[in-house]
Amino acid sequence: MKNTAALAGKWRTRSQVLKGIQLFRRIKNKIRTPVPLFRILHRNEERFECPICGYEGPFANFSSFAGFRKYAICPLCDGLERHRLQYLVVRDAVRGLNGQEMKMLHFAPEKFFRGVFSRQFAKYETADLFMEGVDHKVDIRALPFEDGTYDFVFASHVLEHIREDRKAIKEIRRVLRPNGIALLPVPIICEKTIEYPEANPYEAGHVRAPGVDYFERYKEYFGRVEVRASDSFPQKYQLFVYEDRSRWPTLECPLRLPMSGTKHADFVPVCYA
Ligand SMILES: [Zn+2]
Repeated sequence: MKNTAALAGKWRTRSQVLKGIQLFRRIKNKIRTPVPLFRILHRNEERFECPICGYEGPFANFSSFAGFRKYAICPLCDGLERHRLQYLVVRDAVRGLNGQEMKMLHFAPEKFFRGVFSRQFAKYETADLFMEGVDHKVDIRALPFEDGTYDFVFASHVLEHIREDRKAIKEIRRVLRPNGIALLPVPIICEKTIEYPEANPYEAGHVRAPGVDYFERYKEYFGRVEVRASDSFPQKYQLFVYEDRSRWPTLECPLRLPMSGTKHADFVPVCYA
């Protein structure tokens, strides 16, 4: 009994410490240096180009539950490495198609993509189960839409939060029109996908750590899946994730396995109905 109480106390302390660290990090990431001052302070650092907003200059560092990342954020639009890569992949995926005749569904909509997508597609709708201000408050595993409603679906870093992800993938495929396209990137953070026994609250509720093999699940529902990677585009856009993954597992990410190297490619699967 005494041991159980001691253990419970230890877990409470650990959880309070982790919550404190996460709050501190959130506040730190929110504090932004004005862009002109940022340029002066970082004038001797490597320069990049943001394909989303057109900014040219140094990128800012970012700190997350998984560790510290250099060259991550565009100081003008706040886009991260993955957002720049996804933007370029969407641009290529719709090239030659008439966006002005297309209907798009955007899950868990990122704020700077809302403007980009609503200009790119004739009809643009947003969806999420919890987020306020979306067009459809829906469960991705059971969508209330007719078959073949959309031409383009975008759900970035959503499926690693869904235990019944195959139901979600099947639903996305169902609501796509013939020749429709879905972009369903997840963070690729290990060699082979690890399913967690329960959602990790310190990792934004992830239920798994996906590896590149994760994209095989899309092939069960889609006719063709093409994977684009950080090295598919010019270096000037800085699409790699600079993260020391050799320090994993950590208190916050106890089920992640260590990976070698500090520069990791990111991936975006393009799924064709
Ligand atoms: Zn930008």
